[in-house]
Amino acid sequence: MNLHEFQGKSILESFGVAIQRGVVVDNAADAVTKANKLSEETGMEWFVVKAQIHAGGRGKGVVTETQSHGVVLAKGIDKVEDTVKGILGGHLVTKQTSDTGKKVNKVLIAEDVYYPGASEPSEFYMSVLLDREKERNTIIYSTEGGMDIEAVAEETPELIFKEVIDPRVGLQGFQARRIAFNLGLSGQAFKGMTKFVYSLYAAYEGCDASMFEINPVLKTSDDKIIAVDSKVTLDGNSLYRHKDYAAMRDVTEEDPTEVEAGEAGLNYVNLDGNVGCMVNGAGLAMATMDIIKLSGGNPANFLDVGGTADAERVEKAFRIILKDPNVKAILVNIFGGIVRCDRVAQGIVDAYKNMGEIPVPIIVRLQGTNAVEAKTLIDESGLNVHSAVLLQEAADLVSEVL
Ligand code: GDP
Ligand code: MN
Repeated sequence: MNLHEFQGKSILESFGVAIQRGVVVDNAADAVTKANKLSEETGMEWFVVKAQIHAGGRGKGVVTETQSHGVVLAKGIDKVEDTVKGILGGHLVTKQTSDTGKKVNKVLIAEDVYYPGASEPSEFYMSVLLDREKERNTIIYSTEGGMDIEAVAEETPELIFKEVIDPRVGLQGFQARRIAFNLGLSGQAFKGMTKFVYSLYAAYEGCDASMFEINPVLKTSDDKIIAVDSKVTLDGNSLYRHKDYAAMRDVTEEDPTEVEAGEAGLNYVNLDGNVGCMVNGAGLAMATMDIIKLSGGNPANFLDVGGTADAERVEKAFRIILKDPNVKAILVNIFGGIVRCDRVAQGIVDAYKNMGEIPVPIIVRLQGTNAVEAKTLIDESGLNVHSAVLLQEAADLVSEVL
């Protein structure tokens, strides 16, 4: 589950990470009052207004309706309302969104932390994530913060460092110090960075995250180390033990069909191909997507209906697949182990009749317990459903109907 910047920052703060403080508003009328209150707490008179959407690149992104950027400096309280109005309610297009962008329902009004002082502020990059190959949590960091880290990785990979954490002993003091050293820090900033790294890692572990990305981590002109941005992904499977984080979910940021599928207990991910697929089991679903690709099609989705493929679930799955206008055929590939194939076949026939006309051909491959009875049921149903026994047959049928 992805979080907004302001939510990620509130988690960071609860673990002792210093952050750029701010207030969230969902209407321009609240902006000035809230900004004034923030100003009383921070003593800062300039603000930065930041669109809260689940996508990065907001600083360079553009709001379609107003041509404003997604992160804008407001140099004084009198600029706050207009700046908020330029962003809130509009559609922000960044290189991580589609061409239509994402609607901005909330903005964060934050203290300006790039104030002048004894030294120049400097921006670093830092993220914590699980390196699956190494099977270890890893801190990735760079002196080149504030910009596109993918470009840094490509052009100057020597400026990206990694610190791999041994799960038996956790993050060690020397590792935190090595990070601060490699970032070229000394004195107060060095100390601040080691504390920052410790608290960030504690936050990552403590909330069962799969990623924390802070870009930029800022060294202010007076040598404080703070998180200016936060991109956080929590492990969805752990949310049952973090009710407060689960409540942070913003469904308006998610694909509506995926949300609906999730509510029906279906594991569905929308893709951009033309062959819908309905499968039981994640492994079989992936194999089926490969087969579709090999037969010249492209999977329109990943859909795991799980163990109980009864008529109701099958119908729901068909309806969800058919919401995608790109779908030209549907491949059903079910292995009947505990759930008998004939019951699944009956489910398909019932769902089909219940839904009236299904506008695309359906290819059904049922294998396992009572597969023969299932095939007979499909073949005798008189519906626009083709049955197959072998996976290759199913694949051939897909290329025939496309
Ligand atoms: P992103 O573009 O979606 O990654 O959004 P960020 O939160 O990283 O903000 C983008 C850029 O805005 C940062 O890299 C900074 O350069 C700039 N920025 C953020 N906060 C401030 C601030 O308080 N003052 C100033 N002057 N610039 C800021
Ligand atoms: Mn950023």
